[in-house]
Amino acid sequence: MPGFELWSDAERKQVTDVIETGILMRYNFDGPRKGVWKAKELEQEINTYFGSQYAQLVSSGTAALTTALSALGVGYGDEVIMPAFTFVASFEAVLSVGAVPVMVDVDDTLTLNPEAVKAAITPKTKVVMPVHMCGAMADLDALQAICKEHHLLLLEDACQAIGGTYKGKKLGTIGHAGTFSFDFVKTITCGEGGVIMTNDKAIYTKCDGYSDHGHDHIGHDRGAEPHPFIGYNFRISELHAAVGLAQLHRLNEFLSIQKKNHAALKNILATVPEIGFRRIPDPSGDSCTFLSWNLPTMELTAAVVEEMKAQGILAGNFYYYNNNWHYIRKWDHLKQSVTLNALSPELKEKIIHHANKDFSASDAIIGRNISTAISLTWTEEQLKEKGEKMVTAVKKVLQQQAVTL
Ligand SMILES: *Cc1c(COP(=O)(O)O)cnc(C)c1O
Repeated sequence: MPGFELWSDAERKQVTDVIETGILMRYNFDGPRKGVWKAKELEQEINTYFGSQYAQLVSSGTAALTTALSALGVGYGDEVIMPAFTFVASFEAVLSVGAVPVMVDVDDTLTLNPEAVKAAITPKTKVVMPVHMCGAMADLDALQAICKEHHLLLLEDACQAIGGTYKGKKLGTIGHAGTFSFDFVKTITCGEGGVIMTNDKAIYTKCDGYSDHGHDHIGHDRGAEPHPFIGYNFRISELHAAVGLAQLHRLNEFLSIQKKNHAALKNILATVPEIGFRRIPDPSGDSCTFLSWNLPTMELTAAVVEEMKAQGILAGNFYYYNNNWHYIRKWDHLKQSVTLNALSPELKEKIIHHANKDFSASDAIIGRNISTAISLTWTEEQLKEKGEKMVTAVKKVLQQQAVTL
């Protein structure tokens, strides 16, 4: 799954370029940087590789979402429809711009259920934010049609799906804006980092200014530049961008290993008729960072998780139903709206309302799903052994279940 597994001389060399000039900042210092502009170079290469017209690097995926939402004009009173199964960063970003995160159910794609999205639309809805979880995509045709009909903006949280595609287009470049995270465990890493991609120049220009204190970056004296609006500091450093450049150059290699290992593990698990797999709207576009599989019932799934734990083979297998980072069931801080700073009473009430709705439809999906992280470093033998141990654990539970019935 993550690029850090294959750290190499390529990353070292890129970082050394920056260390040698000592210019760790992405702006200014034109003379001493001796032509080294890693952040700029990475933005250009992202556009070339992913097919976006504009890319703005920032300090994290969370910062990318926050910046994108601001650039889309999302704020006070606005509602952002997002899935109940995602990483906490998705709602953190919505809250950071003062908007309301409206969590809705996922379906068997593990991403936004288009029907649940439709049902959640109100006059306050501004953005639909699908999250391409665990490496594969939401049903973007259906979501785009909804956005078009209701005049909503589509923001793709593609942080976990770098290199995935939908009908030939790269995930993250299909909506009005899209984001990647380059944190340490993502498909490619900068250590910490993120990017906003868009084909809309006005959105890009806002992202560019917002992520650097509102500077408009016109002219050559950044300190003296006008500020068309208030911004923040979400800048990426040259050191981080340097790592990202090396990793992007290796993305094709990472993806091909992921796809190979994913297919091999899937073949082994598929020998058990009771094991099913996540529905993927465009299977050829799966980035294959995870293999998401399921069992017929929540009870069986929980028992398999316990059995895998008992056998010491649970590492790298995520049962998100019991995980407090990725699924609404355990987002107690959100459900109670616990913040360090006071929120407007109106926002607080809405947060609590939306986080405490009925998510039994999602429970029925997430409670049966196990996502296995695909490593880039497995040997063929390790993979086979891993898959066979998983199959043994599943079969044991199925047998026990049959006896008790
Ligand atoms: C990782 C992740 C983020 C946030 O990225 P950071 O770089 O860790 O801030 C946002 N959304 C999803 C779905 C993620 O997996």
